[in-house]
Amino acid sequence: MTQKIQKVCVIGAGTMGAGIAAQVANAGVPVLLLDIVRDPANRNAVAEGAVAKMLKTEPAPFMSKAAAKLVEVGNIEDDLGKIAECDWVIEAVLERLDVKQDLYAKLEAVKRPGTAVSSNTSTIPLGKLVEGRSEAFRRDFLITHFFNPPRYMRLMEIVTGPDTDTALAEAVERFADISLGKTVVHAKDTPGFIANRIGTLWIQLGLNAAFDLGLSVEEADAIAGKPMGVPKTGIFGLVDLVGIDLMPHLQASLTSTLPADDPYQKIARSIPLVETMIAEGYTGRKGKGGFYRLGENRRREAIDLASGEYREKVSARAPSGPAGKGDLKALVEAKGKAGDYAWAILGGTLGYAASLVPSAASDVVAVDDAMKLGYNWKAGPFEMIDRIGAKYLAERLAAEGKPVPELLTLAGDRTFYRIENGKRQSLGLDGEYHDIVRPEGVLRLEDVKLGSKPVLKNASAALWDVGDGVACLEFTGKMNALDGEVMKLIAEALPLVAKQFKALVIYNDGAHFSAGANLGLALFALNIAAYGEIEKLVGGGQMAIKGLKYAPFPVVGAPAGMALGGGCEVLLHCDAIQAHAELYVGLVECGVGLIPGWGGNGEMLERWRNAKGMPKGPMPPVAKVFEMVSTATVSKSAANARELQILREGDGVTMNRDRLLYDAKQKALSLVDGYSAPAHPEFRLPGASGRAALSLAAEGFHKQGKATDYDMVVSDALAGVLTGGEADVVDVVGEQDLLRLEREAFMKRVRDNRTVARIETMLATGKPLRN
Ligand code: NAD
Repeated sequence: MTQKIQKVCVIGAGTMGAGIAAQVANAGVPVLLLDIVRDPANRNAVAEGAVAKMLKTEPAPFMSKAAAKLVEVGNIEDDLGKIAECDWVIEAVLERLDVKQDLYAKLEAVKRPGTAVSSNTSTIPLGKLVEGRSEAFRRDFLITHFFNPPRYMRLMEIVTGPDTDTALAEAVERFADISLGKTVVHAKDTPGFIANRIGTLWIQLGLNAAFDLGLSVEEADAIAGKPMGVPKTGIFGLVDLVGIDLMPHLQASLTSTLPADDPYQKIARSIPLVETMIAEGYTGRKGKGGFYRLGENRRREAIDLASGEYREKVSARAPSGPAGKGDLKALVEAKGKAGDYAWAILGGTLGYAASLVPSAASDVVAVDDAMKLGYNWKAGPFEMIDRIGAKYLAERLAAEGKPVPELLTLAGDRTFYRIENGKRQSLGLDGEYHDIVRPEGVLRLEDVKLGSKPVLKNASAALWDVGDGVACLEFTGKMNALDGEVMKLIAEALPLVAKQFKALVIYNDGAHFSAGANLGLALFALNIAAYGEIEKLVGGGQMAIKGLKYAPFPVVGAPAGMALGGGCEVLLHCDAIQAHAELYVGLVECGVGLIPGWGGNGEMLERWRNAKGMPKGPMPPVAKVFEMVSTATVSKSAANARELQILREGDGVTMNRDRLLYDAKQKALSLVDGYSAPAHPEFRLPGASGRAALSLAAEGFHKQGKATDYDMVVSDALAGVLTGGEADVVDVVGEQDLLRLEREAFMKRVRDNRTVARIETMLATGKPLRN
């Protein structure tokens, strides 16, 4: 029996197989990637080519180049015997029953009992896949349905058969959860499982209704996108992204496998314009264009659904008022086409979703998780029903002569979710509410918040008790930006944590740990020349953040997503970091004409000075930090952040986002015994000659046109701090001296109009001006 998965084999090195293999490698687990022999001269060419291609793909399937080395390539003719070494074989070959069955027969001959075999099929029932296989094979078999791209999509649907060994399925699920970072949703062995079953109907409803109501693609997407909490691509934009040619396949597969009375059968229809588009190669972003395209001179165009001609894309407005802002009831009740379109989609999709419990999913949570993680919806179907009202939905469906799912009747005028005694509960099929139980090791701040009040709180931050003597500092501002209020709360929290807690973690549930200092606020101060305020923010920030470093208790930073500028500086001052694998961290201040001002320079110098294999002497770490900071380098993953020395040896990485807070808490607790705050560092810096060397390096970039005139000014300011100033070699610079240099250089840049222009552009467009 497979208990622990230590080596994986992926068969089929196409879009999915290659991506899944990369994610296994990202987890640090060796993986064998096999495909067919297409070229007798190089029998592994297919798998080899897939790995080479992934190394160039953006967004990158690999989290680091080192991960790619964990993939061993081969082919199914020569290397199938090697699966005896593997604990899990993932089949991701093309979607044809005969090809899959043929492969399983070969696998059965070489696999050892207890090696799990799973299919990534999107549409073929498990029962069909294992036809003709022995009982022993069926015991080891299940479906694990990943979403594309496997690194970034968090959903994995798991389907077991009547013969699947429970312990084996649990071992696979645990590995997918903890090592691959997936949220595993259990689905029944029904066509399309959960996410694609609902998603395909939703897309079809969206396309049908846009044609029927005579909406433009822009109008349709403006209604179906943001107001419904769906990615802003809306439905037409999404179809462009996944490939318009995929639609008829999904349709054919579902219509041929779903029962005749399934509501999907009624709405599945071929749309002449879509057929023409596919026939002529307009298959979406991968083809000549889709419902949208970049036309001549990079002009953004959209297709006219009536004439089939491209025309300039116009921006369509979301419905006004609450209907456009997530009030779904107002949206489906809006007068005119917007309301009609919204109802056509939501009435159909939500009613359908409600009809699939328990036939396709055993509970409402599974359905909601599947849609949120598989289709990136902000809210799942049942969460949306709660906003519209189950009773309203049932009555409106009934009034239109449409079937009313039993579950809606069961809910009556109740909601599917409620909060009771600080716990989130969902409505079960027995008509009772039940606590939603998170898997062991999963902890979210949102759960803590349901059952408690903050220990401290102000406009930009809060402090929570997350149990076992650990406090959690949460940033709460827009994009979790840092401002004076955050620093004030840190200053208040430090003595309190010292007295009442054992350790502190810095974490929030947001998609991004922190976008850095609040530049909007800074710009406001700059525009009224309130330099004193800015100086206070810099000095106060330095004190608060150093306070974290020298606190008498361990502090663990637990970032996910972006941790930029000041957000990165906070992390650099923690005793340890427990990072989510998807971490985009860096000191980006130079991009907006500033330099790190909250102690980031010194902390990065220390990190590089202590890095493995770093040559002795003051210059090498300085050169490394200069290179990183002057180019505003941001890590592409936690693994990459380790290469950049932002993460140190003892720092940890959590693959599953839902486990991050729990893991950070454990890390913090592990540091409690015998904890003492770090010693204050002293820096030996290379002085004026070092500064000159750095400036020479920067000049090279300038000459190649990679750095602007103002970049040169900014990087010289940075060089001045990192090298310690004017003396030849600056023997010993204390931490406070370096902070002073940092403050002075920062304030000088702040007073420069060119920095102000960069910040203004950054705030307006999301990108700094290249002046
Ligand atoms: P793909 O066409 O990109 O890749 C299929 C690969 O299988 C090819 O490299 C092909 O050479 C290889 N192959 C064919 N016969 C083989 C055999 N006998 N032995 C070994 N390799 C063989 O397809 P894909 O999109 O990666 O899909 C693979 C599977 O994943 C399918 O079952 C599909 O339904 C499923 N799936 C796809 C997606 C998606 O978005 N593409 C999402 C979820 C699941």
